[in-house]
This record gives sequence, C-alpha cells and structure tokens, in this order.
Amino acid sequence: MADTVQEFVFNLTFPFSRTLGSTLSTFASALAQGQIIGVRTGGRVIAPPLEYDPETAADAGTEWVRVGPKGTVSSWTWVPEPTNLHPLDHAFGFAFITLDGADTPMIHAVDAGSESAMSVGMRVEAKFKAPADCVGRIDDIIAFVPAADPSPSEGAGEPYDAPEENDITEMDAFCDLTYIDNASPTTTMWAKALMEGRLIGQKCPQCARTIVGPRGMCSVCAIELDESHVIDVPDRGVVSNFTVVTPVQYHGQTETEPFVRCSIMLDGADAVIAQQEILDIPANDVRVGMRVECVWAPASERSVADIDNRSRGSGGDAILGWRLTGEPDEPAELYLDRMM
Ligand SMILES: [Zn+2]
Repeated sequence: MADTVQEFVFNLTFPFSRTLGSTLSTFASALAQGQIIGVRTGGRVIAPPLEYDPETAADAGTEWVRVGPKGTVSSWTWVPEPTNLHPLDHAFGFAFITLDGADTPMIHAVDAGSESAMSVGMRVEAKFKAPADCVGRIDDIIAFVPAADPSPSEGAGEPYDAPEENDITEMDAFCDLTYIDNASPTTTMWAKALMEGRLIGQKCPQCARTIVGPRGMCSVCAIELDESHVIDVPDRGVVSNFTVVTPVQYHGQTETEPFVRCSIMLDGADAVIAQQEILDIPANDVRVGMRVECVWAPASERSVADIDNRSRGSGGDAILGWRLTGEPDEPAELYLDRMM
C-alpha cells in the first residue's frame, strides 16, 4: 500500500419537499406569476419578505409590496468555475441586489458574461423562466442580467394584493452533498493486513480484551489503542449471530435472492468481525455456533479499495467468505461471555 492517505469520496443525494410557511408561500406564489414581492415592516421594505422583522423580532405582518424586477448591485463575488450545484453552468457573479422598491438586498446570480462587467452600483434585471416553467421557487428567476434600461422599475413600491389562499405552499428541493473521508491509521493497518492475508486485532492493556477490526480504542475501557497493541488473530471462529437479508430492489442493490450476513467471533478475540458471508450452504442452514474458517481471495486478486472508516472490520475483496471447518458446533456458553 502506498504511504499516502487514502481518500474516500462519498456522495449523498436525495430529493425532499419542505413547507414554506405563510410568508414564503405568498412570496413563492407571486414569484410563480413573475412578480417579486417584499413586506413593509418597521418603516422599510424587506425583500424577499420575512415573517419577523430581523431587528425587532416583531411580526412583520402582511403589507406586501411589489419590488423589482430591476435592482442595484451592492456587493458581489465572481464564481469562475461553477459546480453542479450552482444555478448556472458557466461563470457568473453572486450578488446582493437591492430591488427597486426594497430597502434590503437579496442574493441571486448575475449572468454578466464576464467578471469585468460586474460592478457595485450596476443596474440589473430579473430574467425569469418561461411562465409555464415557473413553479414558485427562487430559481424561477434564472439570473439577473445587466438592465437594458437602467430607469426605475415600473410599479415597484406599490402594494401587492395577495390572494386569500396561496397556490404554492411547498417547495421541492434536492440535496447533493459530496464529502471526503480520509482513511484513519487503524483502517489503513487493517487494510494492509488484509492484503497480506492476515486478520489483526488490538489487545487492550487494561481489560485484556482483543478487539477485531479498526477501532483504535477499547470500547469497554474507553482508552486509545494504537499500533503497539496490534496482534494477529486466527482466521477461524464461530458464528455468533446472523441475519437473513431478503433484498428489496432499491437503487444499487445487486442481490436478488435472500442471503446471510454473519458476525463471527474469532478464536481468542472478544469482538466479532461482522457482515461476513458464509459460503457453500443455503441461507436456511446457517446457524449460530457453526465453526467457520476464512476463505481468502488469491493474493493477486485481493483488493481493499472498498475498505473505509465505516467498514468496521469488513474483509473487502480480500475475503471471499467463510466456510464450515467440519468441527462440531460450539456451545454458546464458550463464546457468549467473551462477546461484546
Ligand atoms: Zn479495555
């Protein structure tokens, strides 16, 4: 294994809906009609509207005001390389824009073409999606663009009569989170041993328990364990418990038939190696107490690419599974009290 720290990149994505509350429902419903609004409270117009005055915490009320569609940039930053999460797929500015008729700025994208076209004080104008595509979300405004005519927006500052019932009270959103986890020293030790066809544990100097898999601590004594506490453990043991998994065909599930995942208590150890596969016998025949031994992948075919900090003793592609040793089953009293 290389001496560099191994990185694992995770990507978490899921769609979700959120309710908007009365004020943002009014805002979203107006936006879907191509109208941006604010709320008049405490002698000024806050846009987008808030439920509470941010300075006094008083109820901001429902005195709605038409604002925009033009406004003035009060500060900005340039995004030269947008990610998939940015509103535009090419370089753009994020800007605070005080819309005509409003006293507070809102943040939005400015599609100015180039950084040199951006400036504090520039006049911009909201560019909406086609009416049929507007759903009452802030990205109904594709972006603000330099205003062709810098004169004040027509109707800005005038009252806005909201309907009794808002058309839009929920918003669809999508989470797309990518994060990187670096392999911990114990994960790295475990993976290195697997590549060598060895299983290792860490023996706690205080309680003398042997913990299998990369933990870096004794879960009983809550003390740190390091490289000096590493010992080799046998690659045979007893099935201490198991689960029969009946696969549901969610995205990414490749199994189609019921299968078994076992916890195996290795001889001499005090913690199980979990999520192990038993080879050569039907799921129905797996039982607690079976004596099993590790079946290693040939050295040239081993891989620990999938061993990350969450693997907790997983064998990756270095272990093919476990097979019966042919020894008699082990009575529960021989291993139950050792197990934690
Ligand atoms: Zn301990």
